Amino acid sequence: MTENKDKKTIGIPRAISYYGNFPFYYGYFTALGLNIVISDKTTSKIINEGVECVVSDTCLPIKVYVGHVLNLLEKGCDTIFVPSLQSSAYKVNNCSKIRGLPEIIRNVIDKPFKIIEPVIDKTEGISFKDFCYHIAHEFDIYDEELINCAIGCGWTVYNNFHNMTRLGISYETALKNAIEGKTVKTPVEVVKPLSVVIMAHGYNLFDERISLRLIKKLEKLGVKTYTSLNVSQEQALHAIKELGEIQYWANELELTGTAAHYMLKEKVDGIIALSAFGCGPDSLMVDEIQYHAKQRNMPMIHLTIDEHTGEAGFVTRIEAFVDMLIRKHRKKLERSNVIKIPQQIQTEQEKTFVKV
Ligand code: SF4
Repeated sequence: MTENKDKKTIGIPRAISYYGNFPFYYGYFTALGLNIVISDKTTSKIINEGVECVVSDTCLPIKVYVGHVLNLLEKGCDTIFVPSLQSSAYKVNNCSKIRGLPEIIRNVIDKPFKIIEPVIDKTEGISFKDFCYHIAHEFDIYDEELINCAIGCGWTVYNNFHNMTRLGISYETALKNAIEGKTVKTPVEVVKPLSVVIMAHGYNLFDERISLRLIKKLEKLGVKTYTSLNVSQEQALHAIKELGEIQYWANELELTGTAAHYMLKEKVDGIIALSAFGCGPDSLMVDEIQYHAKQRNMPMIHLTIDEHTGEAGFVTRIEAFVDMLIRKHRKKLERSNVIKIPQQIQTEQEKTFVKV
């Protein structure tokens, strides 16, 4: 993003709400006439710097968030956007760490900088419009016509991004297209022998350093992946209701709703839950889905991550899970008298055997 020295600048940490909302932020801030600086992609240095600032039992995504704020400060950005996303609908809440993000940042980073900390709290009647107006006022922008027009621009980029991901376009490509103002309307059909739904927050899954490139690893193993970006809010909410559950957490659509949608449609061979070690809301949501998956005989694995997660052990667990899906798939083929097993779905053991 090229910087115009005459404009005011806002720094956006590439973490937490960045992964779901950046297309809106991009459209809105740009239309308000602001420069946007984003922190670098997550590295070990960013994680380590975040880890050093907070108490050890804080979840990894918050440690990473702190590291990204420090990265923006290192880049010379002294006005940083740290929203407080309290509740997305009446009594549908975010976890306390996301709600209190500005307080966390203020208390753990002892450096002078300005925090732009708008609030959304639909339970308390603080709307999305209030959130947007708060940001504009922080930059001395009071022209309502301009602010409303900027909100419209934000939604245009956001909707374009989500329309593309629902057609199966990858996170990175859809984001790049949306920011460049491009649209793709043709669905991407990927045919793989197996498919799984990944139940995870965008900030864990699409941050490749945190997820250890889980999506790419599965694709290499011949597994098609579905994520929350492929499901609409209505579909996710409908699936939660169909399970007989209620939505309590704001990001339950992203996790429970997405997993439930694919599980109920029997569109996938298995479920992979990816969550941060020590995350309270995720452990409840994963338990809920595990219960329903067991009842439907749907294979499921829960991978937890923290700053110490090693790639080797992580890969071993994924491969073992995929091998199990392959064996299950083979039995299904045998039962339906399909004798030939496609090359792509040989188990890891079989590949080794062939090599010998
Ligand atoms: S939902 Fe879980 S992983 Fe996300 S910020 Fe809260 S505690 Fe951390």
